[in-house]
Amino acid sequence: MQERSKGCKKSIVMGLLSEGSPLNWEETKRYADHVRKHGIIQFLNIYHKVKDRQKDVLKWGDEVEYMLLSFDHEHQKVQVLLHGEEILHELQNRGEKTNPNHPTLWRPEYGSYMIEGTPGQPYGGTMADFNTVEANMKFRRQEVSFLLKANETICTITAFPRLGCHQFTQPVYEPKPVESGASKSLFFPDEAINKHPRFSTLTRNIRHRRGEKIAINVPIYKDRCVSSPFVEKFVNGDGETARATKPDHIYMDAMGFGMGNCCLQVTFQACSISEARYLYDQLATICPIVMALSAASPFYRGYVSDIDCRWGVISASVDDRTREERGLEPRKHSKYRISKSRYDSIDSYLSKCGEKYNDLELTVDDEIYKQLREGGIDHLLAQHIAHLFIRDPLTLYAEKINLDDANESDHFENIQSTNWQTMRFKPPPPNSEIGWRVEFRPMEVQLTDFENSAYVVFVVLLTRVILSYKLDFLIPLSKVDENLIVAQKRDAVRQGMFYFRKDIYKAGNPVVDGCACTQNGIDLDSEEYALMSIDTIINGKEGVFPGLIPIINSYLENMEVDVDTRCSILNYLKLIRKRASGELMTAACWLRKFVSDHPDYKQDSVVTEKINYDLMMNCDQIAKGLCDCPKLIGVPISKPKYSDGKHNTV
Ligand code: ADP
Ligand code: MG
Ligand code: MG
Repeated sequence: MQERSKGCKKSIVMGLLSEGSPLNWEETKRYADHVRKHGIIQFLNIYHKVKDRQKDVLKWGDEVEYMLLSFDHEHQKVQVLLHGEEILHELQNRGEKTNPNHPTLWRPEYGSYMIEGTPGQPYGGTMADFNTVEANMKFRRQEVSFLLKANETICTITAFPRLGCHQFTQPVYEPKPVESGASKSLFFPDEAINKHPRFSTLTRNIRHRRGEKIAINVPIYKDRCVSSPFVEKFVNGDGETARATKPDHIYMDAMGFGMGNCCLQVTFQACSISEARYLYDQLATICPIVMALSAASPFYRGYVSDIDCRWGVISASVDDRTREERGLEPRKHSKYRISKSRYDSIDSYLSKCGEKYNDLELTVDDEIYKQLREGGIDHLLAQHIAHLFIRDPLTLYAEKINLDDANESDHFENIQSTNWQTMRFKPPPPNSEIGWRVEFRPMEVQLTDFENSAYVVFVVLLTRVILSYKLDFLIPLSKVDENLIVAQKRDAVRQGMFYFRKDIYKAGNPVVDGCACTQNGIDLDSEEYALMSIDTIINGKEGVFPGLIPIINSYLENMEVDVDTRCSILNYLKLIRKRASGELMTAACWLRKFVSDHPDYKQDSVVTEKINYDLMMNCDQIAKGLCDCPKLIGVPISKPKYSDGKHNTV
């Protein structure tokens, strides 16, 4: 999740969150219009200063979210370790605070058992950069491991299988479902939320704005011995619990069940705003595909679920819409009916050629749209921002209400950074060297540095071929949304069918104005796209679709790449290829198999303490390279001993 206010220079430099006194929901609400109005002024100021910047170079960087675990070998138990804040502090002290060129940066995350790590500097435009990603990720793991005890570990699992189960934290805390708490959860104690007030304030304000507790219902996997219907009784549940739970579903009631999961993200800097808008649109269509390929979260609150990806869970976990906004009650007090959570897929394309595929109903703040148009923003960008700005700010600090709109962007970032969509269009921060960026956000984190590097490198290479060959993946956004639903289903990689554009080599103008669309605007017809399997989309199928990996391969053939880097890239692409074809398992599939093969498993869809212990131990061994896992990872091609060390520009 996004957690910094970008305008606060000090907080970026120090790597800390802006400190101050957070306002409660009633107070925050009073300033909502103020934040929106000044947020837009801040955006306009940035826009007009940097709209014509053209020559920014490719830069990119990954973000990996990590979990800390504590093993109790004697009792064969594993718990999440609530020492994230202390570890973070130590990592920053030893790292960026002593050396500005330190190779890693560490940031807080929602759970106090989580931290986020990124490279110290973004990567650049050379092929050789692809060969440093994995080493950097390894270094991050080592840095943290060094600070942990022998029975503790850092891992990259998307969702801790027993999150929210009895005594799942170390130290143990009992959840206290009281109104004055942050989550009011029956399962997730407030102590598992990062101690920085931003996180508990977010949690509490989302709940207060919504008017009731968060409710997440995930379908349970109906194994042979699961009762039908599957209904749980909660000893400390109340009327609200009874209303919120659904039969045959795993019920969760706190932000932590979503924001307490880990993900993998990549941010790219484009050379200009129009290139950023073009990439934003193109990558949006890829989100469901890569989400399914990265599926890694089949277990929730100690149960085997019937989904493979966390996206819907996290979406529900921060859904601050009122009942009226959700369309459950006639609209009396709320300004709009809002179709999606703040954490959801994008609702409009940004480039000119995306315009005709914008077929989702877009709720916009009319005043803000007007303010933007009068400020010189074109229709597509104005409606995008005016759509993000239908949301209220969720946290606000008393000290940060009146800002210098010409030089700060906290109010803009306040709304922008709590719109957690599949893609994010990121304007440069004020007075910085940073260019226009887009962030690719749908991926689940993988167990090993090798896999995480593979997904990151694949996505970065994809941006290179999109730009080099002027590819066009656009289909109506409603179809992308349908794909996103399919992507989260159990075994979507092998069984799901996804809408994808058939002819992606659309002849047309080069990317002068940000897209390669034809001039004569072909009518929208169903001939433009077809239902394809992930295998077809990624690996191609004779006469149907060329395949993303074959396109990347032909690009690579024309690039000068040193042998060692080429070998790494080929290994990464091989993983993606084989995951897509089903030859290798996704993490979700592998995790399911581990549980169903476990001698203790009783076909009741329960991940017991002991099963979880064995599973997490196994994951830890795999991540540390202490045991192979050919079904998940395959056998990488061995690397050549010598590298010619050439650095070639992409
Ligand atoms: P977020 O707002 O998503 O938390 P971060 O500031 O944590 O974003 O950065 C996300 C990634 O962007 C990091 O991997 C970082 O290295 C990378 N990054 C930093 N500067 C740039 C840049 N100018 N262009 C592209 N990526 C960048
Ligand atoms: Mg980040
Ligand atoms: Mg991010």
